Amino acid sequence: MKKRNGFSWLLLPLSILIFLAFALFIERSGISYTVSQNPSSFLSPLPTITNTNIEGISAAKPKCLVLFDSESGLKKGSFDTVLATLESMKVPHTEINVSQSSRIRFEDYETVILTFVQLSRIDDQIDELLFWVENGGKLLFAIRPDNTAALSGIYPQLGITALGPGLIKANGVEFLTKLLPGTAGMQFGESFINHTSLPVDLDESVKLHLISSDILGLPILWQTELGNGKVVFINSDQFINKSSRGLIGAAYSLLQDVVIYPVINASVFYIDDFPAPIPEGKNDAIFRQFTRDIESFYLNVWWPDMQDIKDKYNLKYSTVIIETYEHKLEPPFEYTAGQEDLLKYYGGIVLRDGGEIGLHGFNHVPLCLEEDGINQVLDYPTWPSIRNMKQSVIELQQFGSSMFPEQPFTMYVPVSNILCPDARKWLPEILSDLKVIASVYLPYEDVPAYIQEFTEAEDGIVEFPRIVAGYDPDNFMQWTAANEIWLHYTAGHFVHPDDVLDSYRNQGSTWTGLRDALDKYLLWVYSSMPSVRNLTASEGAMAVQRFVRLSPDYECSNTQCNVTLSGFYDEGWLLMRTEKIPSEITNGAFTQVAPNLYLIEANAPDMLIGFEE
Ligand SMILES: [Zn+2]
Repeated sequence: MKKRNGFSWLLLPLSILIFLAFALFIERSGISYTVSQNPSSFLSPLPTITNTNIEGISAAKPKCLVLFDSESGLKKGSFDTVLATLESMKVPHTEINVSQSSRIRFEDYETVILTFVQLSRIDDQIDELLFWVENGGKLLFAIRPDNTAALSGIYPQLGITALGPGLIKANGVEFLTKLLPGTAGMQFGESFINHTSLPVDLDESVKLHLISSDILGLPILWQTELGNGKVVFINSDQFINKSSRGLIGAAYSLLQDVVIYPVINASVFYIDDFPAPIPEGKNDAIFRQFTRDIESFYLNVWWPDMQDIKDKYNLKYSTVIIETYEHKLEPPFEYTAGQEDLLKYYGGIVLRDGGEIGLHGFNHVPLCLEEDGINQVLDYPTWPSIRNMKQSVIELQQFGSSMFPEQPFTMYVPVSNILCPDARKWLPEILSDLKVIASVYLPYEDVPAYIQEFTEAEDGIVEFPRIVAGYDPDNFMQWTAANEIWLHYTAGHFVHPDDVLDSYRNQGSTWTGLRDALDKYLLWVYSSMPSVRNLTASEGAMAVQRFVRLSPDYECSNTQCNVTLSGFYDEGWLLMRTEKIPSEITNGAFTQVAPNLYLIEANAPDMLIGFEE
């Protein structure tokens, strides 16, 4: 029997330990990175256009008519939502006010959209409207009409077999089809979609897309044929705001044989307040779970987990820096946190992996004065002068450049998504590299946030709003996300490192819980928008420029569509919804992303799309 000799068995673990210590030392002493001069190799920024109609909607006589009722202020949301949707889709349209107009010439149009509830406004033309549908017209009820005599006379032509009295309350929606990508079988809005609907039974021949998700299972959205025409009926008064534009667009598209509209095709993932000063000491919940202080938790748990998530979904992180969390509002403005090494370490990895670093704030006080009356709402102090605000922003830019010398700072995220109008004006003047401002898409309740559309502002800055926030997006955010996948093929998401520490924002979840929730959510996002491009904020902004300027004009027969793109530069992305099956395309490529929905990449301003016969 051979006797084990000495400590030789220690050699292997010891050498592993020494190697690990060395690797850690190298890593902590700063990571090297290189950034190419042009951070995006696939696109470059377009020069600003002034005094032109960048919406690019063609001058041809519109074939889509939107009827609205200026007397019905209460439901104006339906009209606004329909208009914003058509504008995003570049559908040329005309608007007529039914409370003022005389005779409407339906025969001049192919599609009519009703955005008002009092059908009696068009009482004298309602039979004419239905006759127009029978002869090939396409009619969308974007909001359910009131249950009046005007409806009683026509409901059997709308796919309804029985209409009860009055209106009934119903909750939520359940998708019976994949009307929006990734939604089949899903339920949304039990707590935020409160329909006041018509009590209807439907004919078996209609195609039902949405029902209420409550016990009623009430029909909420269906399509039906009438003679040679089509009707899409929304039996709800709820889809009247920004979060529902995708659904309105999808409802419109059900009327058409082929719909082709420009999209952004971008998923941008932000980490706000990162890198930023990390608090010293312990957080009870973190220490209980990981027996680490806050700094060690971020370094050894949170960041490796975020790296795993990035790798799994091929994300490019867009992060925005903060110098201090002190409410310092008077100069000198300078970096005092003493965490330069950590900052360079985290930022270096972000850049190494194709991400982007942008600006958030010298501190976390929104750029507003006392007279704006805005900072007070969130208990922030107000800046004593514009001069001080500007100085703080210049300091932030200079500090960022000293930490990351090769990184141009082209992106700004307002702190707490608040940006006062005056600061919005001067910010591009003092930040010469600024190209994109990323705030939020949806208005918040109670918070006077800087609300954006996906657009180019008059000063050339690209407005690139974020749609979804947090590690565990709620059902409302997911609803909005599904709508935006359909309308813009875009996901814009932000998280904060310190949501993990804040028991209000994390609603009592542990980091493990939050991480798994984010993973699950992203799995849904990326399976709902296959082939979407993961872009940095600046790359996304260039994609927005191309989206905003692009406007398709198309003529379709049974076998093909001839597409002409105005405002085409170097690439264009479009979605096409059709029940036809595309078989070939010239000057482009297509990918199916959902039933009847195709993502098209255009390589030239004219395309020919052929369909299977
Ligand atoms: Zn922040």
